[in-house]
Parts: sequence; structure tokens; C-alpha cells
Amino acid sequence: MTPEFSVDPRRVVALRAGLPRRTGRYVLYFCQVQKRAEWSPALDYAIEWANYLNIPVVVYEGLRPDYPYASARHHRFILDGVRELALRLAARGIGHFFYLPKLGERFPMVARLASDAALVVTDDHPTFVVPRHNASLQRSLDCPLFAVDGCDVVPLRTFDRAFPSAAVLRPRLHRLLPDLLALPDPLPQPHIDSLGLTFPSLPGLCRGIDVPDQPDDLDRLVKTTGVDLSVGAVRGVRGGRQAGLVRLSQFLRNGLPRYAEGRNLADHDVTSNLSPYLHYGMLSAGEIARAAIAARPGGLGDVSVAAFVEELLVRRHLAHNFCFFTPNYQHISALPAWAQTSLAEHAADRRKVLYDRETLLSSRTADPLWNAIQTELRELGEPHGYLRMLWGKRIIEWSATYEEALATMIYLNDRFAYDGRDPNGYTNMLWCLGLHDRPFPRRPLFGLIRPMSSDGAGRRAQGPLYIDRVRRQLAESGGTLAGHSAKGRSEQLTFDGGR
Ligand SMILES: Cc1cc2nc3c(=O)[nH]c(=O)nc-3n(C[C@H](O)[C@H](O)[C@H](O)COP(=O)(O)OP(=O)(O)OC[C@H]3O[C@@H](n4cnc5c(N)ncnc54)[C@H](O)[C@@H]3O)c2cc1C
Repeated sequence: MTPEFSVDPRRVVALRAGLPRRTGRYVLYFCQVQKRAEWSPALDYAIEWANYLNIPVVVYEGLRPDYPYASARHHRFILDGVRELALRLAARGIGHFFYLPKLGERFPMVARLASDAALVVTDDHPTFVVPRHNASLQRSLDCPLFAVDGCDVVPLRTFDRAFPSAAVLRPRLHRLLPDLLALPDPLPQPHIDSLGLTFPSLPGLCRGIDVPDQPDDLDRLVKTTGVDLSVGAVRGVRGGRQAGLVRLSQFLRNGLPRYAEGRNLADHDVTSNLSPYLHYGMLSAGEIARAAIAARPGGLGDVSVAAFVEELLVRRHLAHNFCFFTPNYQHISALPAWAQTSLAEHAADRRKVLYDRETLLSSRTADPLWNAIQTELRELGEPHGYLRMLWGKRIIEWSATYEEALATMIYLNDRFAYDGRDPNGYTNMLWCLGLHDRPFPRRPLFGLIRPMSSDGAGRRAQGPLYIDRVRRQLAESGGTLAGHSAKGRSEQLTFDGGR
């Protein structure tokens, strides 16, 4: 007999099949991505197994200092949410344990916790370190291991292939969304609480509720880990579910009513700015979509809700779908054939200007609008969505090869963006090179790839107002809109229409 699960079976994959270990003291949920206690299929699945086996469920979260682009910015954002997640789980009787190793410290915490578990549940996710972690657990554990996809409203395995464009995916999603959005998300309660469990033999493992939550304490903690401190947390930005919920309610009130016509105007704060909270799973796409639909009298029929759902559920699912079915999602070889052929034909085209990575990183190009976008990315960690497209397109013009352009985009985006290292990022950086797009009239260097200019995009996005906004925000966070401060040179940025 197996338990009755409320979790959609398309979300679950058994990485190691078999019977639960009979001596197991608990079900272990190794939380890698979906850092929330609510609306979480992986957590629900772990609870339902635990109830079936009549044992408690334990949540484990670790934050290693050696992930790609590990920095104070990413570490602080994650740490901001640890105590809060532990408290929310504790309210449901679930013990949450946390491990913050320093650089060079290696302890097989998951394996040790798993050795006493009946089975292990973890998150399924198409990118970053998760596929590697899961493959390694699949090889090393000696109990059942389930990976659960909590990425989106529609499970990723609903479809069996990568879609070539939003146009092909959209009608398929729209057929499913009304029913899935109408379903109440289950909130199963564990029958046995795990708050009393302790693990004294595991060095460095602490209870999540003992992690501090004050910014100064967290900054001190981050400094002990050995991560890159030169990419710092941005003043006023906080991770964690509560901070995400505050942004959500601000967006529903102020941004959503103007979203349809205003989301490309970079001077307005119209977009939700929720991508960092989605990236770290502190909020779920489903709960955001439901809140947006409920916030407007016309529901899904409201033009702004429809435009927002297009980004949140269609474009985001398209990005996850692409990475899920495309292991080489960080390479030019993942582009459609027409784009690869066109790029090959134009590989030798003359570049008018080449900038090295340091010049780009420190916003020292001749294009003031681009410099402002890069400065927003580097100093504030949250570049505006519309101008991100221009940011990528111009890097293509200024790089010796398309491969180098993509590598530079990934480096800058993943190092500095709060929402970096995400399927949305890899997909959209490849979009700059033709993915999910159509051929355009041929041009030097871009070939058939859609071109974009600072003049055109700057006019549409109200570039001068955007530059002023970035300058104001930088001043509020203690910086100035100048070149990279490490160089000690200052550069006044004004908008002159770019090239
Ligand atoms: C070169 C480039 C790099 C990008 N890198 C990232 C990245 O690292 N991480 C990331 O999450 N997004 C990335 N995007 C996509 C998009 O720009 C961001 O999701 C968006 O700017 C986040 O701001 P927001 O939350 O205010 O978005 P909103 O406009 O409020 O949209 C709501 C949500 O929908 C999703 N979304 C919006 N636009 C897209 C899109 N084009 N594709 C897929 N999902 C989308 C996001 O989850 C977003 O939070 C990138 C885009 C480009 C062109």
C-alpha cells in the first residue's frame, strides 16, 4: 500500500525507488530551492509520506560558500529568510535545521541526516547546482529519494518537449491554468511534531530558529563564511517571505493597475520586482497569480492582469520548460538552427568597438543608457526588465564572438543580479541571440537576430527618466551614478541617445 498524495504525480520523480527504510526516524526534506512553508509541493509530499509512515518530518537547509558567484549579496538574501522559514515551519510542528559552512569546510550533512531517515524528499529544478546535487544524492544515498517540482503552477512534466516559442506554449498553458489556479493548495499537517529532535553529533548543524534575523548580525555572519564580500547586500533590500509579501502587496496596489501600459517604462515602478523572491522560492508563482487575479475586478480578463500572467506564468514557464529539456542551456548550441546558421554566417563581421569584461563590469562604455543599466545591475542587483534586453543586445555588439558575449552576460547577470542563476536568466540571455524569437531582416553582425538600439529602446523606456531614477536610488543606497568605484574615477552619466 502507498499513501494517497494530494501532490500532482507529474511533479514527483523517484530518483531512487524502493521501500522506506524501516528503522528511519523521520522523513527528511532537503530544501534546496523552494524556501517556503506554504504552497510547497515538496514539503507537502514529505509531510504526506511522514504521516503515512507515522513518523515526523524534518526540514534541512544548508548554505555552502562555494556555489558559483557566492557573494555577500546572495548569502544575505538567503540568510534573511532562514529564521522566518524556521518559525513558519515551527508553527506547523516541523523542525528546521540549518548549516552554514565556511569556505574549505566540508561535511556531508545531507548524507548524515539521510542515514537516519526513512526516505528523502528534495526539490526538482532544471538549473544551477540542483541537478548536480540530485545526481550525486541519487548515487550515494541508500534510501528512497524523491525530487518534487514546485517551480510553477503547471508541472514541468505536463509536457514532454521544449517548445520553440511562447506562441506554441501559450494556448496549451491557457487550457490548463483556470482549473489549476482554482484548485485550493493543500496544507497538510504533520501528525507527529519534530520540534524536539536534536542532532548533537552533527558539527555545525543548528536550529533555524536560532539563526539571527537582524541585518547587522547577518552581515557579521556572512563575513565569517569566506564568500565574495565585494558584491555586497544592497541597503534596504531584504530576503525572506515577509519581505516578498510586502513587495507583492505594494505591487497589487500601485503597479498592477498600470502594468499593461507601464511595464516597459523604466522610470516607473510598475513591475512587481518579485523575481528574487520567486528565484529563491520564498513566494510561489501560483500564490502571486491568484493574488493578482483577485486584486482586480475583471480577474484574468483585466488587461493588466493578463499582461502580468503572460510574464509570470507563460514566459516563466517557457524558460523553465527550455532549461528542463535542454541540458546545454548555457550555450549557443542550444539556439534554434536558423539562429545558429545566421550567427555562423556573421561571425567574422567587423565589430565597431570592443570592450573587455572589466570595462563592461564597471559601466565605462560610451553608451550612457547602457552604463546606467549595468550600474543598476552591479550596485542595486535589480535591473529593469525591459532594459535588460537592450543590455544583452549591446554586449553582443561589443564582444569579439557570440560565445564571448553570452559568457559575459552570464557572468555579469549571475554575479550581480539578485534573481541571477535562474532558468529565466539563461533563457533570456539566449533570447538576445535568437531563442524563442523569429528571424528579422538581415543586418551586419546580428544577421537575422532581432537588433535593438539604445536610441529606440531609450525612447520607449524614457531613458533620461530612467537614468535619473537609477541615480536617485543609488543615492538612497549610499552610492553615486559613477563608474566602478574600485577604479576611483568618476563619470557623470547623461542620456544622449547612445549610438
Ligand atoms: C538579458 C536578460 C537577463 C535576464 N535575467 C533574468 C534572471 O537572471 N532572472 C530572472 O528571474 N529573470 C531574468 N530576466 C527576465 C526578466 O527581465 C525578469 O524576470 C524581470 O525583469 C524581473 O522583474 P519583475 O519581477 O519586476 O518582473 P515582472 O514584470 O513583475 O514579471 C513578473 C514575473 O514574471 C517573470 N518574468 C518576467 N519577465 C520574464 C521573461 N522575459 N522571461 C521569463 N520570466 C519572466 C519573472 O519571474 C517576474 O518576476 C532576464 C531578461 C533578460 C533580457
